Amino acid sequence: MTMTPQSAYEELLARARKQALLGSCSAVLGWDEQTYMPAGGATLRGDQMALLAGLQHEQATHPRIGELLAITAGSSLAADPRSDAAANIRELDRDYKRRLRLPQALVEELARTTSLAQSEWVIARSKNDFVRFKPWLEKIFELKRQESACLRSATEGGSAYDPLLDEYEPGAQASVLVTLFQTLKAELVPLVQTVVERTRGSAGEAVLKRLYPRDRQRIFAEAVAAGVGFDFTRGRLDETAHPFCSGFGPGDCRITTRFDDHHFNDAFFGVLHEVGHGLYEQGLEPARFGSPLGEAVSLGVHESQSRLWENAVGRGRPFWGYWHPLARRIFHEALGGVSLDAFLAAVNHVEPSLIRVQADEATYNLHIIIRFELERALLEGDLLVDDLPAAWSERYAALLGVVPKTDAEGCLQDIHWSAGLIGYFPTYTLGNLYAARLFKQARHDLGDLDSSFAAGDFSPLLTWLRGKIHRHGRRYPPAQLIDQAAGPASLVESLRQKYQELFGV
Ligand code: ZN
Repeated sequence: MTMTPQSAYEELLARARKQALLGSCSAVLGWDEQTYMPAGGATLRGDQMALLAGLQHEQATHPRIGELLAITAGSSLAADPRSDAAANIRELDRDYKRRLRLPQALVEELARTTSLAQSEWVIARSKNDFVRFKPWLEKIFELKRQESACLRSATEGGSAYDPLLDEYEPGAQASVLVTLFQTLKAELVPLVQTVVERTRGSAGEAVLKRLYPRDRQRIFAEAVAAGVGFDFTRGRLDETAHPFCSGFGPGDCRITTRFDDHHFNDAFFGVLHEVGHGLYEQGLEPARFGSPLGEAVSLGVHESQSRLWENAVGRGRPFWGYWHPLARRIFHEALGGVSLDAFLAAVNHVEPSLIRVQADEATYNLHIIIRFELERALLEGDLLVDDLPAAWSERYAALLGVVPKTDAEGCLQDIHWSAGLIGYFPTYTLGNLYAARLFKQARHDLGDLDSSFAAGDFSPLLTWLRGKIHRHGRRYPPAQLIDQAAGPASLVESLRQKYQELFGV
């Protein structure tokens, strides 16, 4: 009996949904590993993660999927490229072919190694012990080189970096990023210098380092998160060493942060950032869960959502026009006498620093460019893991004028490499560039956005993002999705304008 394209398509979707459920189980365990799991659970968790990754890979590479794709791909279902079915089939085909190129042994080895390496990274960072972490980093880059080689077919040229980058940002290429980042570097370094010179001797962000009791920080952050639209009946906030957002699926989105009693920015803007990710996850269509149309399209687009809420909205005057009075009441000892102008100057303070996640908007992309250059060199064999700390210091000195005293505040600060996330960093900067475009367009389309923010109404922007970005899932490639949603805009230009207004630069 021959199968109709329609029933083949339905079986494809049912299989995809099963895979998504398995992925969601891994996500729950990954979240638990970083929030509540005792240290003694690391080995068991490594085995659990490897088992699930293996099962998922088995399902995702099942020959049956190939048969079903062959029936649906050339059928009338896929004839109109704008139809739901055509988009789902195109993306499932992409995922299948990509997975098929990876041997199961390599997938399981990567899952086990990165699970253990993350626990080792936590210890190495807390003890400032690069030597302890070094063999793990070497192993991970070796496995990622193997992964890249498997993904590149014999005929394809290009960088070993491209297949890894493509996992996070479909269609992006290292060579394009190199050019893009050169321009950005050339514009950002002098802008940062000018702002630093102009604001030298000012109070800077001193008021943000007063005492902000963490229980109150949590209450304020949750109030703002709910205020901009994060649905706490379908999500929650917990604490981790490294903040993240994990959308398990419809109805359950986890965000995390870390609190420092003497640093307001760290947790507050961290939460707002993860909330931006969470709003994207909560904006995906629940009925499409498990199909490409119900999934986020890329990390760059994901990051555009977090950056937009964290920076474009959350560091702006209209936003604080509404929230500043509440912040003054909750943190009355720290902020009682701090005016809106002084507070805005503090949350927009620019200062070259060592820690990426605490970096201001202007220097942030320089941290990313450094990581992009170093991980490419490590992957392509132009830099040995042994020489990483020295190379790290050298680039920080050149671009930011600061040098880490320890590896904990240098190359051990980020979780990404321990988790095998090579090719991930540049998506942060792509997100910043996308966010600048989306925000400019939203202001154009929605008219007086400032007044609604100042009145505490953030729903017009969220509704706009739901329509332009969230509801499409993976219907369009990331670059096309952004091109359809927004015209051109320069990130550096918008920063220049902001600093002009705040600091008269
Ligand atoms: Zn993010």
